[in-house]
Amino acid sequence: MTEDVVIAGAGPNGLMLACELRLAGVRPIVLERLRGRTEENRANGLVGQVVRALDRRGLYERLSGSAEPPRPSPAFVFGAMPLDLSRLDDNPMYGLPVPQRRIEQALEERARELGVEIRRGHELTGLSQDADGVTTEIAGPEGGYRLRTRYLVGADGGHSVTRKLCGIGFPGVTRDDSVSRGAHVTVPAELIDPVTGGLNVPGYGPIPPFMHHRTDDGLFVYAPFPTGTLVNTTEWHQDGGDQPMSLDELRQSIRRVLGADLPFGPPEGEGPHQLRRLTGGNTRLAERFRDNRVLLLGDAAHVHSAIGGPGLNLGLQDAINLGWKLAAEIHGWAPPGLLDSYETERRRAAERVVMHTQAQSALIAPGPEVTALRALFGELLRDERTVKHIADMMSGADIRYDLDGTHPLIGRPAPDLVLETETGSVRLAELTRTARPLLLDLTPGAALAGALHGRHDRVDLVTAKPSREGLPTALLLRPDCYVAWASDSPNPDVKELDTLRAALASAFGPAR
Ligand SMILES: Cc1cc2nc3c(=O)[nH]c(=O)nc-3n(C[C@H](O)[C@H](O)[C@H](O)COP(=O)(O)OP(=O)(O)OC[C@H]3O[C@@H](n4cnc5c(N)ncnc54)[C@H](O)[C@@H]3O)c2cc1C
Repeated sequence: MTEDVVIAGAGPNGLMLACELRLAGVRPIVLERLRGRTEENRANGLVGQVVRALDRRGLYERLSGSAEPPRPSPAFVFGAMPLDLSRLDDNPMYGLPVPQRRIEQALEERARELGVEIRRGHELTGLSQDADGVTTEIAGPEGGYRLRTRYLVGADGGHSVTRKLCGIGFPGVTRDDSVSRGAHVTVPAELIDPVTGGLNVPGYGPIPPFMHHRTDDGLFVYAPFPTGTLVNTTEWHQDGGDQPMSLDELRQSIRRVLGADLPFGPPEGEGPHQLRRLTGGNTRLAERFRDNRVLLLGDAAHVHSAIGGPGLNLGLQDAINLGWKLAAEIHGWAPPGLLDSYETERRRAAERVVMHTQAQSALIAPGPEVTALRALFGELLRDERTVKHIADMMSGADIRYDLDGTHPLIGRPAPDLVLETETGSVRLAELTRTARPLLLDLTPGAALAGALHGRHDRVDLVTAKPSREGLPTALLLRPDCYVAWASDSPNPDVKELDTLRAALASAFGPAR
């Protein structure tokens, strides 16, 4: 028997892809070498457009516990420089402070609800490809076995076995000149500023919360998350040693970085608590994201510094981009080049992340030249347009896919809309939870009703009234909620309807 898709790796990105495939009618098998979910916590939250993307699958509500739509954050940080986002009219920087462990748990629950088979304790160890599929070799709890599949997706992390088995290079740089130390701690209440929520460190002064704080000797972060207070330092040109990490080591590091002692105690509550030392880091981008019937996803395709927290913004959106395209191949309606557009579209997003994480790493490094560069950068950040440029870049809102058409929304994520339908008011994010392509017809006379002839199996039509003036009158949305076509005309003419048909064919294949 041949499976449709096997996914190696039940990290966040493999699980997200599994959910997307299932929504698109494909039944993937997920292989995960670990027998249980990892206790390690990496990300402390989601940052950027991914928060909107998860809202458009109903996952934001699940993770935030709130039925309210996501709201952008009024402030963020770039290379340890504060970004005042409250000044922006169109702030793209959404955030959701939820630990990665919890995100993985929610994605796994969702995948299981959708009927995804997750095989824990099953490790991909080998693969061979031919024109029709991939034969995978797997080491399972009861021994080795083979699984034949039409496509294999390597979502198996930065050390991806899939990538190595395909001989795909992973060029980039490895830095080993910095040491980061972090731990959950308890800080005495009298050191916490009741107004800013920041720290008042005796002998040093105020330090705002969540903002990377650079000194002449390193970097300090105080992050009072609802799930626990994290304190972090980064120092350069220092040997981390090979002793087990301890709170005392963190205390000494803080003394070197701030030149003052921060009195803190061990964390309270059950945990699991973080206590870690990381040396250096990698910035690497796979030579290609596809090798015939094998695709790479998430950290398997790209790794970079965690500064600014862009990893899941990138990887989860990779999964949302890939899911519907792979499903289209399996269902047999994918137009030529659709699957390859996964790499074209997401490589650019990955290159942007590689660029801005390296730029931020340069801005937090020690030395008087960097201090001078920061002073100049600080002056540039007084200009709202610079703040907007950086916010767009960090959030991924500056990504525009190269799709045909001149409307400014084409190639961009759909705007957040509220629509008046026959059954009442609805947010667009509620209509996209099925992950089906949507043609939104907001024209006064429902002028687009006939446009989907021959494609009703693949594209849903929604007729509604816009809730306010100034919105487009029609939008064709891909399942990843990117705009494939748009119109501002209340009654699109023949020429415009031709461009709609061309967009439908280019994204969703010929009518049948
Ligand atoms: C210290 C740190 C802090 C970070 N902070 C942030 C942050 O604040 N915000 C953010 O967005 N991102 C952050 N990241 C990045 C984020 O954690 C990663 O981008 C994310 O985990 C990648 O997900 P993934 O699913 O691609 O890979 P992984 O999470 O690495 O998952 C891969 C899975 O594949 C499994 N696997 C591996 N090999 C095989 C095999 N051969 N067969 C079967 N299964 C296999 C592994 O066991 C694992 O479960 C941080 C990363 C680190 C290290």
